[in-house]
Amino acid sequence: MADDTKRYYRKNVELLILLEKMKLWPARSGILHGIKTIENYGRYAVITTHCGQEMRIYNSRNSRAARWLRNKWAVKPCPKCKVPEWKLLKYSKTFFDTYGSDLVHKK
Ligand SMILES: [Zn+2]
Repeated sequence: MADDTKRYYRKNVELLILLEKMKLWPARSGILHGIKTIENYGRYAVITTHCGQEMRIYNSRNSRAARWLRNKWAVKPCPKCKVPEWKLLKYSKTFFDTYGSDLVHKK
């Protein structure tokens, strides 16, 4: 069954939390990759996509990736990552505003 729920996240949510939640990586080329693993080293994290790309990112609310995710600037799903349709749908129904969920880590 399709999940039609709209989600609202806070604008200032941390990038890493957002990535862990969405499992999507917006590349500068406008391509949306699927995230396979996230290794958190504190000040930075290493992200591996399903198509085998690895990048080091800094956990900043104002980074390019955070902005791109919020504004949905990456729209073309990576064919190699095979991002499932439901995940893209979920992303398209995710919005960011001042009153959204805080997305705190649950331990
Ligand atoms: Zn990819």
